[in-house]
Amino acid sequence: MQGLMQDWPLLLHKIIDHAARQHGSQEVVTRSVAGPITRTTYGAIRQRTLRIAKMLAKNGIRLGDRVATLAWNTDKHLEVWYGICGLGAISHTINPRLFPEQIAWIVNHAEDRLMFLDTTFVPLMEKLAAHVPTIERYVVLTDAANMPQTSLRNAVAYEEWLKETDEDYVWPEFDERTAAGLCYTSGTTGNPKGVLYSHRSNTLHAMTATSSDGLMIDYRDSVLPVVPLFHANAWGLAHAAPMRGAKLVMPGPKLDGASVYELLEAEKVTMTAGVPTVWMMLLDHLRRNNLKFSTLQRLGVGGSAFPESLIRTFEENYGVDVRHAWGMTEMSPVGSTGTIKSTLGQLTHDETMALKAKQGWALFGIEMKITDDDGRPKPWDGRAFGRLKVRGFATAAAYYRGDGGNILDEEGFFDTGDVATIDPHGYMQITDRAKDVIKSGGEWISSVDLENIAVGHPDVAEAAVIGVAHPKWDERPLLIVVPKEGKSPQRDDVIAFLRARTAKFWVPDDMQLIKEIPHTATGKINKLKLREIFKDYKLPEG
Ligand code: ADP
Repeated sequence: MQGLMQDWPLLLHKIIDHAARQHGSQEVVTRSVAGPITRTTYGAIRQRTLRIAKMLAKNGIRLGDRVATLAWNTDKHLEVWYGICGLGAISHTINPRLFPEQIAWIVNHAEDRLMFLDTTFVPLMEKLAAHVPTIERYVVLTDAANMPQTSLRNAVAYEEWLKETDEDYVWPEFDERTAAGLCYTSGTTGNPKGVLYSHRSNTLHAMTATSSDGLMIDYRDSVLPVVPLFHANAWGLAHAAPMRGAKLVMPGPKLDGASVYELLEAEKVTMTAGVPTVWMMLLDHLRRNNLKFSTLQRLGVGGSAFPESLIRTFEENYGVDVRHAWGMTEMSPVGSTGTIKSTLGQLTHDETMALKAKQGWALFGIEMKITDDDGRPKPWDGRAFGRLKVRGFATAAAYYRGDGGNILDEEGFFDTGDVATIDPHGYMQITDRAKDVIKSGGEWISSVDLENIAVGHPDVAEAAVIGVAHPKWDERPLLIVVPKEGKSPQRDDVIAFLRARTAKFWVPDDMQLIKEIPHTATGKINKLKLREIFKDYKLPEG
């Protein structure tokens, strides 16, 4: 027997409709690409999303067509995003930090028909235009006065384009499983792969990922997503803020410590989220200028491990609750957060900090398992590590156009490519990417663990650990360190610091200094590049 409840498809435009109805005067504040701070409301944004959808339809965009965006976090990007998927087209957010050839590759792979882009990216697309023939029109996210001279095909200033129509438009109804967004993984090995979100998966993901178990936001919050819309839906924040009526503060292109701090304070931000490198820049700015936060309560961080020493700095020195989250593009992206369960009883401060450094427990809608290479389950004892596999309502079942073939095991789990432990309370800890784990004498050494410990050393700003070939042990760890400004960390001193905090055979054989650690387009340590830089490096004898 079926239930007798209404069929109310989970469509993303219902989020912006709800925001306009219930929180119509709530603000969306932007540091615009042109520079000035601009202000609008959910009510006004909804009117513009209707206009966008109507105008896209007039330009021939239909259900299922791909529309690209190459833009920073702004109110314009947000409204375009809702307009595209409201129409039933697919919003393909492109990461501008990818190499130009990769951008061309994914535009062609997605067969994008129209592109919205910030003025900043006009020169880039002019160079690529000849290689991306599927794009019929470029809409530059600016007004007539600021429109650059450009050779881009059918280029038009966004505000002029919007004037060609009105908001007399009714959202079409379609199945909630319809594709809404397309986001490519960064493809450090092989070509990038397209992850195709649905209206249903994005709606459910936003509800759980930003609930109190997760990144936690509601109508009392002022939310600043430093994490870009092009990095897996800004981790659900751009859906959840209007869904819950939170004020949204969009940082535009300026993500340096000073600019982020200025916005956090000026807009009374209570919750912000981004990758560790952004928070390191912010901390540096705070320290140099002896600053504190006056309103910030919570900091969401993920994309790479956030070391305990940094969690402590935010919690102990600045009174900010750190929500360390783990996930991936294929998971929409949030999978787990390290909030403290009440069933753990009374924990000491040190125990709490150590627990928060783990990647946390799976949110509702995610099932996890760890297995050996043959798929046999490993125990949840906090020690055994295995390949981390997941399934759930917002996890990819396949890549766009079937790339990579069948990506699920016989139980429907997706292999994340991460290696992890899970403790008896369900707290998961990433020990490595499977391809970065260091195999030494038949044992595995976690490069992430060593990096987290090394940044706790007072002279170390950032650290990376890679495996280097060794005649006897196969591989041994090499520690690579960026010194803090004005400091010169000594090899023996840093190695001794690690020796005091880890198993003997994990201790790196050597340390090298580097001015800057290379990062990927999503802010992760670029180990491929590091291995290339150190390819001729030889470990000391002995
Ligand atoms: P990419 O496009 O670079 O794959 P993702 O954000 O999808 O970007 O990358 C997902 C990967 O990032 C995860 O599989 C994991 O290795 C790493 N990651 C994400 N969050 C964390 C975290 N909190 N700690 C450690 N690693 C993380």
